[in-house]
Amino acid sequence: MSNYFSRWSELSSIKKELADRDWFFGTSGNLSIKVSNEPVTFLVTASGKDKRKITNHDFLLVDSNGEKLEDTPSKPSAETLLHAKIYNKTNAGCVLHVHTIDNNVITQLYKNETHIEFTGNEILKALGSWEQDAKVSIPIIPNIAHIPTLAEQFDRYVTGDSGAILIENHGITVWGKDAFETKKFLEAWEFLFSYQVKMATIKNIVGSF
Ligand SMILES: [Zn+2]
Repeated sequence: MSNYFSRWSELSSIKKELADRDWFFGTSGNLSIKVSNEPVTFLVTASGKDKRKITNHDFLLVDSNGEKLEDTPSKPSAETLLHAKIYNKTNAGCVLHVHTIDNNVITQLYKNETHIEFTGNEILKALGSWEQDAKVSIPIIPNIAHIPTLAEQFDRYVTGDSGAILIENHGITVWGKDAFETKKFLEAWEFLFSYQVKMATIKNIVGSF
């Protein structure tokens, strides 16, 4: 059980950092961290809670199908199935999903695209791209209210031990080998979205430059 408690405190501290960034509007967002490999189990945020508060019921342990393994009245987040897809297909250790204004607006800026590409920014190094002309790309998938159908669309882009997917007018899901790496990736993507949204706003006001 020691792994359970150490993972709990790790996820709890990430939740607090993301709350401090104000990334949990209206109880949105869900976070998870892997506890064991065989069988796959992970801690995931409980549904419908204010994630700016810290309680003893913030997370619950679920199996590889996202079904709870603890006797608790809490329910796993509605989008737990997306986390389960990642843990079942990859060696990821953590999955973070947040709804921010920037990660929603960027999907409308690129409404007819299946991917968004970013280049020419120092923050790309945080995503592991160190070359001078490095490019990174993130897929956008349509938002589908039926979570199992959404999970099928999502699954096509779960191809490595780290990655990120944007869901149109909904949010981003990021995963990586551990909590530190995953939070770093999430922050880098949100930086790029915010930069691009601000640049588009300026261009709209003063014309292209
Ligand atoms: Zn969501």
